[in-house]
Amino acid sequence: MSQTADTTAPVSASNGASRPDLITQLEELKALLPSIPPDRFKTMEAVTQRYQFRLPRFYVEHILNDDPADPLWDLVLPGSQELTDTGDERWDAFQLQNKAVEHPRWIQKYRYEALIRTTDYCSGLCRYCYLKNRDVTPGTITLRDIDDMFGQLATSPHAAAMRELILSGGDPLALSASVLEHFADRLAFFNRTRSRAVTVSIHTREPVWFPQRLMRSTALQTALTKLGPSSHILHLVHPREVTPELLSCIELLHDLGQQRVPLIMTQHPLFRGINDDPAIITEMYGRVDSGRIPVKPYYLIHPFPDGTLPQHRLMLPESQIILRALASAPGTRVPLLTVPTPMGKCVIGPYERLEDRGGYYLLHTKDGVPVEYSIDKYYNPSESRLAIPAVSLPICTDKSENLQPVQPRGI
Ligand code: SF4
Repeated sequence: MSQTADTTAPVSASNGASRPDLITQLEELKALLPSIPPDRFKTMEAVTQRYQFRLPRFYVEHILNDDPADPLWDLVLPGSQELTDTGDERWDAFQLQNKAVEHPRWIQKYRYEALIRTTDYCSGLCRYCYLKNRDVTPGTITLRDIDDMFGQLATSPHAAAMRELILSGGDPLALSASVLEHFADRLAFFNRTRSRAVTVSIHTREPVWFPQRLMRSTALQTALTKLGPSSHILHLVHPREVTPELLSCIELLHDLGQQRVPLIMTQHPLFRGINDDPAIITEMYGRVDSGRIPVKPYYLIHPFPDGTLPQHRLMLPESQIILRALASAPGTRVPLLTVPTPMGKCVIGPYERLEDRGGYYLLHTKDGVPVEYSIDKYYNPSESRLAIPAVSLPICTDKSENLQPVQPRGI
């Protein structure tokens, strides 16, 4: 494919109004959704005094219904519940002691994997976003940031254990092609020094929000081919988000893998009243897997304690019951129920016993770190902050990575 100028670079909130693809003004939204009741509109105006609003026109016109009963409205239209979000959670602050790289965009909770917050930008803004009110690095990753990261990796004693870099955000598919290309170059150079390549996984919602960006930008497509991610993890929450355009994007992402075809998977948070019904989730899995490219359900995410709108939060046993219904299916169709915690992800089995140990469940991260997970319906951000264990792991110098798992404590 030919290299062309990247004309679809992300816009900032301040100039988003000049892009016909993106809606940043509530009046413009009202013209497309005339059924927004006046009192709700007033609330939306108040909320946008505090939090940005942005939605792709495509999402409004092709996915939302002009109906106040549409459950998706709560997820993408500003609502009063957002104002109750304390915003004092520092999700990214709890990381390994022995990180391979020290950089504000480099988040490392596991010795073998790091997540890079490439940007704070997404074409649409989820109202439940756990990052929107947090201490995240503003703006977009620079070429210098990338050089700094790979420079540190080249000499880090902890780099040998590294197996995967997750490009996250915001949305990495909203980055400019030149940034992705530079990342691809630096990664390829780094991998030439290793016997086992570090792979890249892309976490994205862009093909749901604004599939045209990827479809139109040959520069972005070229950069993705060069980068050669091993997987794309699509953030979907509802069957209606599976549009023909999304399926076309999935085909494109698959076909861009010229050297190595990427896995395409989907993950989603659970929300009361929106997708907490196994039938809805099964329909979503069926639709997204109905095209030419197989799409594997990956993570079923118990709602983040923070950010999630209170009226849509589920209790952990409720999420587990949803998993039970989904687990009675061929293994390739069954997601993992994961509970995000500051110490890392905890995966819960469909019939695992959740025992009240005095106001908390004892969970374990996949590295065996014990987590006292509050049973309370609403998360208290001050809870257990000081009790979070700093995970200190041995330095891995052996590429076979013959490490012993961290011994669970406190059982
Ligand atoms: S796509 Fe992800 S990062 Fe972007 S607004 Fe939604 S939850 Fe936040």
